[in-house]
Amino acid sequence: MRCTVGVLALQGDFARHEAALQHYGLTTRPVRRPEHLRGLSGLVLPGGESTTMLRLLGVQGLEAPLVDLLRGGRVPVLATCAGLILLAREVRDPAQRSFGVLDIVVARNGYGRQIASGTISLAGDWLPAGTTGIFIRAPRILAVGPAVEVLARRDGDPVLVRQGRVLGACFHPELEPEHPLLRAFVADLA
Ligand code: GLN
Repeated sequence: MRCTVGVLALQGDFARHEAALQHYGLTTRPVRRPEHLRGLSGLVLPGGESTTMLRLLGVQGLEAPLVDLLRGGRVPVLATCAGLILLAREVRDPAQRSFGVLDIVVARNGYGRQIASGTISLAGDWLPAGTTGIFIRAPRILAVGPAVEVLARRDGDPVLVRQGRVLGACFHPELEPEHPLLRAFVADLA
């Protein structure tokens, strides 16, 4: 069976995520309405502006079915940047409502403003040596709960985490060709 991966496409970097997944021969589906969630083999929550995404999720009636799917643990999920913020247990600086799917506390824009954005080396055994991450007004993970595995760090801070089948990254793997994080997500879809 061919895998179809849903990419939340209300706002943000969804097109680059779709292109990066199509590179692996996957079919992608932009998710804009509740019926787009049916029959997916995986789901991506892209970067962008989490406040805008939250508002549009409400407008589209998509929030409740999306959160059901995320909590169900049935499909692999990849959440990057704004997507990670949506899934956190608690959001600070500024505070914002979130879904509590990942037991983490995040500070929005915790690595500074646009000018402080850049490509940074990641530390950790889960990713191949030399792997980098592109950080763009990225969230900073301030705390992780006991069910959360830290898969990569930046200067000691967690920047890639996993809880069950949910992977959450502070950086943008879709902006680097064949980023190992995308390969790992694709491998878990089978
Ligand atoms: N700073 C953005 C937010 O608060 C996230 C930035 C990103 O997704 N690259 O939602």
